[in-house]
Amino acid sequence: MAQNKRILLHLAHPGGKELDYIRQAFEDDWIAPLGPNVDGFEEDLKEFLGGEKEILAVSSGTAAVHLGLIGCGVQAGDEVLVQSFTFCASVNPVLYLGAKPILVESEKDTWNMDPDLLEEALIDRIKRTGRTPKAIVPVSLYGMPYQADKIMKMADRYGIPVVEDCAEGLGSRFEGQALGTFGRFGVLSFNGNKMITTSGGGALICPDPETKARMLYFATQARGPFHYYQHEDLGYNYRLSNVCAGIGRGQMLVAGEHISHHQRVAKLYAYLLKDIPGITVHGNPSPRIDSNFWLSTIVLDPQLRVQGQESIGEPPGPSAPNANVLALIRQLDKAGIETRPFWKPMHLQPLYHDAPFYGNSDCVSENLFKTGLCLPSGPRVSEEDVKAVCNMIGDLCR
Ligand SMILES: *Cc1c(COP(=O)(O)O)cnc(C)c1O
Repeated sequence: MAQNKRILLHLAHPGGKELDYIRQAFEDDWIAPLGPNVDGFEEDLKEFLGGEKEILAVSSGTAAVHLGLIGCGVQAGDEVLVQSFTFCASVNPVLYLGAKPILVESEKDTWNMDPDLLEEALIDRIKRTGRTPKAIVPVSLYGMPYQADKIMKMADRYGIPVVEDCAEGLGSRFEGQALGTFGRFGVLSFNGNKMITTSGGGALICPDPETKARMLYFATQARGPFHYYQHEDLGYNYRLSNVCAGIGRGQMLVAGEHISHHQRVAKLYAYLLKDIPGITVHGNPSPRIDSNFWLSTIVLDPQLRVQGQESIGEPPGPSAPNANVLALIRQLDKAGIETRPFWKPMHLQPLYHDAPFYGNSDCVSENLFKTGLCLPSGPRVSEEDVKAVCNMIGDLCR
């Protein structure tokens, strides 16, 4: 590994045509949150996702989650079932609406929402409140698909719409079908470090043109169809800029390449790390499940000793990653390799301390949080980089 080059977790990777689309936006005077790039980007995404769904490009993935919940009719006081093991953006919009998050534990194969615990939560919430939760939000963590068939079956049985948080899952598939196209709504993120980027942005996958029009209304300050400014609903300024959408159009030209690169990197990690005792690489748990491997992830056996671990001492704070994980992150960082701990589950977050949580004695997400880390995976991580990372891990874990 070159001394002066750091291997980063995930850097954006321009495909080359982004500036052409941006230049066009300037030449045609479309420096606005609407225009030909927004329309074109939505078309590109629609085609990418199989052509059956409508796409609304918005300013962030978080905005898309918020709009999806609005589209499900979530209001103050309603309950929403959300996967606990996720980034805060899956859940925070529930609070934006004054609704109540109900957190659901993950299952061990996909690390995503456990369908059995989802059912347990549904039965218990209906029994306690006499009302049915308004939405279900599963998350494709690090790109890994959830058990889409079981979750959809459960949601249909109880008549509850699903908002799929696929912010990390662009290009992931369950039984060949693109993630984000199973539920009533799907969410994509184009933040700087996601599978593709618009520098910042997101998309709401909608079931039909009428729903898209309705969600566009909420994303543009709920302005009524009048020649003056008339507002009957509470709206938001959530539309994607035509300049940023130009980046997105350029990125769509290389989205397929990005996805296969991430998948190749994951395979190489699995191959190179398979003989290191105490390290498990997370792979597709079954042939029905096809992850985009947005980030490659490993789990460390708590017994595994990592060089420098003694100096970590007791984990800092109430629920933190194990000392060997923290030591590995620190030692890799010293060697110029950026890694990251897993998302800390929402039921362990002070912000969601009071939210009801449906888990079991397996404590899947808490254990993963304590034992896992994310490895460099972006489109700029080369085969040589992966080898260097694996060699370094091998050296440190002896
Ligand atoms: C990134 C992310 C989001 C939010 O997307 P932004 O575009 O950053 O607002 C939502 N959910 C998950 C799981 C994410 O990783």
